[in-house]
Amino acid sequence: MVHNQGTRTLLSIVVPCYNEQEVIDVTYDRLQQFYRSLKAMDVELIFVDDGSSDNTKQHLRRFAEADSRVRVVCFARNFGHQVAVTAGIEVSKGDAVILIDADLQDPPEVIHEMIVKWQEGFDVVYGQRAERRGESIFKLTTARAFYKLLNKLSDVPIPMDTGDFRLMGRNVVEALKSMPEKDRFIRGMVSWVGFKQIALPYNREERYAGESKYPLKKMLRFATDGILSFSTKPLQLSIGLGMTSATLALAGIFYALSLRLFTNTWVEGWTALIIAILFIGGVQLVCIGILGEYIGRIYNESKDRPLYIVSEIIEISPDKQKGSHKFEVNGEKV
Ligand code: UDP
Ligand code: MG
Repeated sequence: MVHNQGTRTLLSIVVPCYNEQEVIDVTYDRLQQFYRSLKAMDVELIFVDDGSSDNTKQHLRRFAEADSRVRVVCFARNFGHQVAVTAGIEVSKGDAVILIDADLQDPPEVIHEMIVKWQEGFDVVYGQRAERRGESIFKLTTARAFYKLLNKLSDVPIPMDTGDFRLMGRNVVEALKSMPEKDRFIRGMVSWVGFKQIALPYNREERYAGESKYPLKKMLRFATDGILSFSTKPLQLSIGLGMTSATLALAGIFYALSLRLFTNTWVEGWTALIIAILFIGGVQLVCIGILGEYIGRIYNESKDRPLYIVSEIIEISPDKQKGSHKFEVNGEKV
């Protein structure tokens, strides 16, 4: 365990927030209770406002102006949960960094147990959901199917029933910071990094207030990112699919030719013909689609845009002046 600033350990808590005005006050209270109960450690609380369109930012500003432990990174627009978490990680200074959702589904009290594991020598302690209250059967079954598929396809094992609620040591955080990929699937990236990792079972609560910010469309995008960022197997699958359909097509061709050459019934067979055309057409479209997804990602990477744009950082600066500076790109003032 590395110590920051002399002997006291610093813990960074990163909270991504998107339209969380109904819950953010309670979350801040619970986090305050948590860090008051921490004896031998300092805490910095990093809220990332992911372009909220409600009053979340005003709430966060109030916290930061009254509490020097709070820093708020405001995005210029909504860049998405995984990017918000990345920004929090990038500005964090702690010896260990905790990622936690703003909606109190991940109870802050569990962080105590994470710290114990970290002090025992683990570099990553990830929360594993023992029980998920208040989540629909649909979400539970699709999540399970997704992780099964992901683990089949990916070369890096990605644990079941985990979210981003986790503690990471500074060594892991630095490794993550060296990964500039644009399509980010943080839990997979943390698995990929390695080091000593351990699961910590906890009961995931219901969202305290407000609605899920992950509608089905965002969830599908997230699942696709997870699979395509960690595996090129869909490309191999599409080759397999192509080969199978080509073999079937070849058999069809022989069949059609033999009908034409050796019988008088060659006009028939329209059904078989149309099925073959549709089938091959379908397979080709699927394969082109898979290729397209990967090419889209290469395009995305090659543009090399910053991952996010910061419009403002709200904090009481160390010289006690109320500070906020504008326009940062990936942590650098411009
Ligand atoms: N979130 C975010 N940007 C987004 C969507 C969500 O920062 O575009 C945050 C959100 O405020 C919450 C966390 O990500 O703190 C998880 O989102 P949510 O609770 O809505 O997801 P769910 O738990 O339903 O999967
Ligand atoms: Mg939630």
